Amino acid sequence: MDDKELKVKVCIFGAGGVGKSSIVTKFIDERFLPEYDPTIEDFFRKRITLNDEQINFSIIDTAGNEEYSLIIENWIKESNIFVLVYSITRKLSLKEVQFFHDKIQRFFDCENYPKVLIGNKSDLFTKREVSIEKGKKLAKELNCKFIETSAKTGENINQIFYETILLEIERLKTI
Ligand code: GDP
Ligand code: MG
Repeated sequence: MDDKELKVKVCIFGAGGVGKSSIVTKFIDERFLPEYDPTIEDFFRKRITLNDEQINFSIIDTAGNEEYSLIIENWIKESNIFVLVYSITRKLSLKEVQFFHDKIQRFFDCENYPKVLIGNKSDLFTKREVSIEKGKKLAKELNCKFIETSAKTGENINQIFYETILLEIERLKTI
């Protein structure tokens, strides 16, 4: 087997409380923490094997209050994958996605890189404020893939990372 490793950097953005940290912790170690410090900006690593390829993920979980953070700015410039998150239970959080997308664009032209729009908290469907159609529409506008997830049940959490890595592998073949 090929022992080369593909290194990818992932940035996660979205309004406070939409579940960014929960998504990352669920992916990293299968846990769901009911409360995670909302001010923590953190960095995670995970290795996976996908279709015989070794993938080494570095993930930055942003806290939304880093307007002038050079760390985030530099991180954005080095990233290959962009994850934008809203909560299906909060209409405003979908609007805020546009703000985060613009912010990424300010530092880096992410047009050709894999991007995914996540409608999180799909388990709270009785409190749904954002329809699947609205999510898909914005994803199309921003040229993102679209997935609804639940960090609580784990639904589609791995797919966020697996699907974007497949897009990244395709992108790398074209350069
Ligand atoms: P962040 O500010 O975007 O990092 O959001 P957190 O990951 O800290 O989550 C905010 C709150 O939403 C916490 O109380 C989480 O337990 C809860 N939460 C996150 N994801 C889900 C989910 O998929 N379903 C449910 N029911 N709650 C979630
Ligand atoms: Mg957080």
